[in-house]
Amino acid sequence: MKKYKRTFREDLRMIKRALKLIETNTPHFLLHTYLYSFFSTAIFVIANYITASIVDELTGNRDIKKILFLLLMYAAEIILHIFQDNSWRKIRTFNLISSKWEEVLLNSKSFSMDYPNMEDPLMRAKRQMITDSRSSGGLGRLMMELSSFFIGINQIVMCSAISMELFFRHPEKTLSGFEKFIDSPGLTVAFFMFVALCALGEYKVNSKYNRLANRKIKSNSMIERLLHYYLDDYIDDSKACKDIHIFNQKKLIRNSSDKIYGDWINGCKELHSLFRKKNNRYNLFYVLTTAATYLFVALKTYIGAFGLGGFIKYQFCIARIVDAAESISGAITALRTNNDYLETFFEYLDTPTEMHYGTIPTEKRMDNKYDIEFHNVSFKYPNTENYAIRNLNLKFRVGDRIAVVGMNGSGKTTMIKLLCRLYDPTQGYITLNGIDIQKYDYEDYLDLFSVVFQDFRLFSFSVGENVSAEVDYDEEKVWSSLEKAGMLERIKAMPKGLKTPVYKDFEEDGVEISGGEAQKLAIARALYKDAAFVILDEPTASLDPIAEHEIYSRFNDMVKDKTAVYISHRLSSCRFCDRILVFDNGQLIQDGSHENLLENPDGKYSELWNAHAQYYAEKKA
Ligand code: ADP
Repeated sequence: MKKYKRTFREDLRMIKRALKLIETNTPHFLLHTYLYSFFSTAIFVIANYITASIVDELTGNRDIKKILFLLLMYAAEIILHIFQDNSWRKIRTFNLISSKWEEVLLNSKSFSMDYPNMEDPLMRAKRQMITDSRSSGGLGRLMMELSSFFIGINQIVMCSAISMELFFRHPEKTLSGFEKFIDSPGLTVAFFMFVALCALGEYKVNSKYNRLANRKIKSNSMIERLLHYYLDDYIDDSKACKDIHIFNQKKLIRNSSDKIYGDWINGCKELHSLFRKKNNRYNLFYVLTTAATYLFVALKTYIGAFGLGGFIKYQFCIARIVDAAESISGAITALRTNNDYLETFFEYLDTPTEMHYGTIPTEKRMDNKYDIEFHNVSFKYPNTENYAIRNLNLKFRVGDRIAVVGMNGSGKTTMIKLLCRLYDPTQGYITLNGIDIQKYDYEDYLDLFSVVFQDFRLFSFSVGENVSAEVDYDEEKVWSSLEKAGMLERIKAMPKGLKTPVYKDFEEDGVEISGGEAQKLAIARALYKDAAFVILDEPTASLDPIAEHEIYSRFNDMVKDKTAVYISHRLSSCRFCDRILVFDNGQLIQDGSHENLLENPDGKYSELWNAHAQYYAEKKA
């Protein structure tokens, strides 16, 4: 099995790209990360150097002036602490900013993505995965690991420079026999080689087990997500409480969460065992290095190459070099593992734009003379086999009142999505006033449509913002749209009127609204947009019969000279439309007025109508 998914060079390239990205948002972060690591290392290396010098002085010349001077140098260290603290605060702030900025980048990518990608379950899962792993990976993690890496490097450089003195410190007296052997350059070289081998051993043990542990943590992350869902999300969802009680789902949730909890415990045990193995091996190298260092430095002190201060200094520096090997190996493994996150993150940001976005502006017409025509259009959703729409030829004439009917899954909503260019046809094309809609500026084209989808969403903004989809809105126009949608009295009765927050997510004085009221607000939003095409997909499903009657009886007035398209299962409400389109199995099979269509008793429309009528007749009887 490959150790890593990417080569070292590919990993470096990814880190470089991430660093460039971070630098654009928080300039000089790399400089401050380096400075922080430099000051952090310098503080303890200098402190140790001073301690060693004081001990030497106390056990040697006992020059009080020199001792006082060394003590004063301790005080001067405070300057280094100020610099270190300054860099630390900077990189902490950079880190926080970068973590949020990551979300902002992801969101702006989501908003600018082709609609098919936004709806694609795989793409949504990718986004979810990135969000879920942000606590353990990301630009922030890269910054922290980089700081450990720099600390390790600085430690090695500074401590090695000091330890090199070991080669040049010899006793003043003439040595012979065993003492001469201790002082020989050969033994010093052998000692350094031994320490280097142990450090390499530690590095290998660390990277192997950190890599295995990270892999395990990653494979446990799905279990964590499921556990989080059962233990937190499911209960947090206030709408789920009804189902939990009515269907006594407690047992189902408990059994599922118990199983996952068991898997989670096993995962933790495996991790624990990995860390135990790592620590056993690591400790062996650590003890060997420490013992060899103490022995070597003690022997050099014993033969008089340096005093007690030298013993403290060199022992400390060599131990730090070994520690540095650990932090560097830990940082490299963590950086490479973090690249798994960055890879998905960049993949998401690099999602290509496949739809063709034209440049022609749409004509701004007061008479709403926009003729849209489907030319032999067929369409398959991405990654599916079956056509959702087949060979559709259809012309929308200005001012039409069109009802679209058909069984579930017959292609009605898909036709609307094609009309609004949320998707492009797989075959055939659609024209607006004779020109292929792909040639028009996309935003301009979208401005022609107001749609209330079956699964519309309102947001935790104020009523006014929800209706207008703007921060600075035309209040009069919002009130008039609310009136047309039958929500005027309800909103007027609210203490803050248009400023009333919808839902109580963020504000205590927010209002919870019923499904029917939400639908009326969505209709008001569609009317506020004042687009040439008004499309209502199952517009009255959540409305009570009186509200439904009100909306329909006022609809002609509401939409005026616009083209209106309704998708509805209540055939009785389609009767006021001039034209009814009947869809079946992705095909437009009938197109005509209610009366015309009923003239064909064997047609689908008659079948649907009779089923509907029979149902009501039975209910009356
Ligand atoms: P209707 O609005 O008539 O109920 P739709 O247009 O929503 O039907 O669906 C038509 C067909 O396309 C159905 O078979 C449905 O399962 C499929 N479909 C709808 N949306 C998607 C999608 N996002 N991805 C894949 N298939 C889809």
